[in-house]
Amino acid sequence: MPKPKPDSLIAKQFKAVLRRDVLIALIILIPVGFIVYGVFHWVFIRSKDCAYNTFLLSISLVIVGVVLEFANWRCPKCHRYIGMVYRPRFCPRCGVRFR
Ligand SMILES: [Zn+2]
Repeated sequence: MPKPKPDSLIAKQFKAVLRRDVLIALIILIPVGFIVYGVFHWVFIRSKDCAYNTFLLSISLVIVGVVLEFANWRCPKCHRYIGMVYRPRFCPRCGVRFR
């Protein structure tokens, strides 16, 4: 099977996609942690307005993060969603090499 070298521009753009992916993962992780805490300490969350507001804010942040993730996790060439692949080497849609 021939192994063409990745297009340097595509590789560079895909690195930016990966960097944004890490950032989005961090944005999602903190509120997800709080939501899990909230589910196990629901009585406390409901008893404090500020805790309840933080809980609602966390859910909004996760929704925003998931939307951003869907917008970001796309092939730089064909701009289609890559799918649930961890650090892909190729685009599953158009087959372009990322790295
Ligand atoms: Zn593609």
